[in-house]
Amino acid sequence: MIFQNTKDFARQLDAQDSLRKYKEEFIFPTVNGKNVIYFTGNSLGLQPKRTKSYVDEIMNDWAELGVEGHFYAQKPWWDYQERFAEPLSKIVGCLPSEVTVMNTLTVNLHLLMVSFYCPTPSRFKIICEEKAFPSDQYMLQSQVRFHGYKAEDAIVEIKRRDGEHNIRTEDVIAKINEVGDALALVLIGGVNYYTGQVFDMKLITAAGHQVGAKVGWDLAHAAGNVKLELHNWNVDFAAWCSYKYMNSGPGNVSGCFVHEKHHANKELPRFAGWWGHNKERRFKMESEFDPIQGVDGWQISNLPVLSLAPYLASVEMFDEIGMEQLVHKRNNITAYLEFILKEIDKEVDSSFEIITPANPEERACQLSVFLHGEGRSLFEYLIKNGVIVDWREPNVIRLAPVPLYCSYEDMYQFGQILKKGILE
Ligand SMILES: *Cc1c(COP(=O)(O)O)cnc(C)c1O
Repeated sequence: MIFQNTKDFARQLDAQDSLRKYKEEFIFPTVNGKNVIYFTGNSLGLQPKRTKSYVDEIMNDWAELGVEGHFYAQKPWWDYQERFAEPLSKIVGCLPSEVTVMNTLTVNLHLLMVSFYCPTPSRFKIICEEKAFPSDQYMLQSQVRFHGYKAEDAIVEIKRRDGEHNIRTEDVIAKINEVGDALALVLIGGVNYYTGQVFDMKLITAAGHQVGAKVGWDLAHAAGNVKLELHNWNVDFAAWCSYKYMNSGPGNVSGCFVHEKHHANKELPRFAGWWGHNKERRFKMESEFDPIQGVDGWQISNLPVLSLAPYLASVEMFDEIGMEQLVHKRNNITAYLEFILKEIDKEVDSSFEIITPANPEERACQLSVFLHGEGRSLFEYLIKNGVIVDWREPNVIRLAPVPLYCSYEDMYQFGQILKKGILE
């Protein structure tokens, strides 16, 4: 499609957008009395209007029923988490028995590493990406130390080539083959939080398995953003937070995937708790742990239902729409944003550079823009003028044109504000 940098053209795209009505379903912060243009859904998604009623329902049931709510609430609490299996399985591409919600993201990755990082003196290395999200780095370092290894011996980072912003798939595969028999685990962020690069999860998973390693993915920036096929890709495990693209509220619970092939394996080490115990017998208070066959066998505690409620509201919204429609608009609006950025860059005589891959297969809903010159003050100008973006050192602004609640006209307006900000 030939894009145009005009308000009329942007409005025309909005008129053809099948997701257009969903913008009305979200609550926007305001600046100077106007709704903001919100580009930080990759950090904390906006609140859907329908969410409050899901939370109120729990509060009301608790008020009226007390402990009886576990079994007699409108949506009983004791197995509330099971409502996620069907819709989430479609969002991340797996069987319902392979997906659940529990804990928070880094906690889940730790727990999954208990099962899937079982190092031996000859096979103890972990491959991750260079400059992984800090929490992932701390997690990997503490895990290898817990097993008695040194981080510098056990953790192998895949580097970017000199002068390049992104990691080449061929370099990931080469590193996996190089580490070979010593490789215990590959654990990478499916979408890089800084650059927005989407990794070839299918290919990398297969390469890891080829050398006998386990392969897990941190899907914080992928869930609800990228079309995933965790089951078919044969991924061993994965986890993601629900508060970024999935709009479930600050710090909220994590989704978690364990491949079916591991479900019957009772020999896998795991940290157990009563919510992972045989469901029919859970309240018999038996002393021997009998894990549920399925990812729910990794559950530990009874669930924070008040936190699950906003996530359920969100998952049902995603289920209504389906990932195909979402990905379709995502591709188009990201391409339009890219076009707008390039047009403005021409008008102001080259003051920034997009570091996210240009190839649509290698990116999703994020463009990271490296600013030459006065980055920080431009960032502050944008915020003051109702464009919510985020700032990453040394000089990067991340923009996520979330398809659920960003419009094409927002992209046009953003371009105008950006231009003013640069020229002022
Ligand atoms: C957002 C994010 C996290 C955050 O982890 P929490 O445990 O939810 O605080 C971890 N890893 C990556 C890659 C992220 O993008």
